[in-house]
Amino acid sequence: MSETHSRTAPFGLALENHYARLPGEFYTRMPAEKVGNHPVLLHANPKAGALIGLDPKAFADPDFVPVFCGHKPLGDFSPLAMVYSGHQFGAWAGQLGDGRALLIGQARDMAGQLWDVQLKGAGLTPYSRFGDGRAVMRSTIREYLGSEAIGALGIATSRALCIISTGETVMREQPEPGAILTRLAKSHIRFGHFEHFHHRGKHEQVRLLADHVIGEYFPEFIGDHAGWFGEVVRRTAELMAAWQAAGFAHGVMNTDNMSILGLTLDYGPYGFLDAYDPDFICNHTDEGGRYSFSNQPGIGQWNLRALALALSSLIDSDRLVEQLNAYESIFVTRFRALMRAKVGLVSDREGDDDLIRSLLVLMAKARADYTLTFRQLPQAAESWLALFGEARSEAPAWLARYRARMDGEGGRTAAMNAVNPKYVLRNWVAETAIRAVEDRGDAGPLDRVLRLVQSPYAEHAGDDAWALPPAPEYCGLSVSCSS
Ligand code: AMP
Ligand code: MG
Repeated sequence: MSETHSRTAPFGLALENHYARLPGEFYTRMPAEKVGNHPVLLHANPKAGALIGLDPKAFADPDFVPVFCGHKPLGDFSPLAMVYSGHQFGAWAGQLGDGRALLIGQARDMAGQLWDVQLKGAGLTPYSRFGDGRAVMRSTIREYLGSEAIGALGIATSRALCIISTGETVMREQPEPGAILTRLAKSHIRFGHFEHFHHRGKHEQVRLLADHVIGEYFPEFIGDHAGWFGEVVRRTAELMAAWQAAGFAHGVMNTDNMSILGLTLDYGPYGFLDAYDPDFICNHTDEGGRYSFSNQPGIGQWNLRALALALSSLIDSDRLVEQLNAYESIFVTRFRALMRAKVGLVSDREGDDDLIRSLLVLMAKARADYTLTFRQLPQAAESWLALFGEARSEAPAWLARYRARMDGEGGRTAAMNAVNPKYVLRNWVAETAIRAVEDRGDAGPLDRVLRLVQSPYAEHAGDDAWALPPAPEYCGLSVSCSS
């Protein structure tokens, strides 16, 4: 083991300036701007801390807030903002980059894996363009809870370590309290990093970056660029299958928000489905519905094509096409397996696909709650049918067919409850946690909700209300890109 594994950096971390081994044109080294005069720790998440070997005692360390609001460096790590480009809503957007994010550390975990430690909202960088480098409390809480909820569902994602309230007022459509999120990810490298260099004709940099990514995160593909691209295709297809099965809409699947590791990244105007609507658009700025729920798998493939183009100087076009062509079957296979598990099917029989498809059709017609329809499927017929409200006409026939099919599958309730969450981060739930913080400085609901979404399959007696669909005043809450 190298000396970088000795856990001598602040808070017992093992730090390593790994990204900075790339040449300077990949980033700008800089300290964080000193955002806010009164930084206060609003909430910290021991589960994320454990990923990098951070003892929860660190949260009370006098240096914790100064470090995680960017006022003080993390050991001798030299912070940096990364440059990337990307396609936004299908159009080439040119140079973007970490406009309000700063890499303040890279930490090795106990298993030898590297984690980026990144501040979001810690001030201006050379890539801030028209932005102010800030993040508002509302969107910071949404990313904090959303990424932990997705992680607890077993879906690949960035994670969230803590929220610091900056004490600063940030201007959006209206003045809002500012915050800084510390997020962790194995890497924040995006498809857009590769596009950035390719579209400038810098093919040697594309190669350097690919070899950096492969060496650190895909060592089994060293010397095999095409095989590595195939692995990125596989991870992306499986991520899309996982989002569709969980009822998660990302909202802004621009190529600069697509992780090269296949992680869920950049939680903006995302949404978990309440009533099942395949055409659900969670981002009200997305007028054409490019990133609607049902479009996500196709957009995942579109984004991979943009990545393939960016790798075209490195990988033979026949090989790129061959790998891209595998996308659909990888997606379908995974999605089918996830949906079969959700309805509790084990043995594979003719008619199963139609059984699942017709349930989704019924749910869409009745606007049945996506999460509860699966969670309550093993329960008494009447309570399940009630989820279909007045439009339940065909639901009893479907249920009879389903129950006949389930004969011989044995008791499946425990297995189904282990894949169908009771608690997802519904918009109204996030909004309730946000309002408590903003209106009363009360982080109690935030803490409660974090615990629920971190163990989403458990019953949590007494917390049933947090599992309910939105009350009418919370229906159709709109979420914008503004954050
Ligand atoms: P997003 O839509 O959040 O993925 O952001 C797209 C790009 O805009 C990224 O390069 C962000 O870093 C940048 N950006 C978003 N909000 C801000 C902000 N308030 N200040 C500076 N840059 C921002
Ligand atoms: Mg982004």
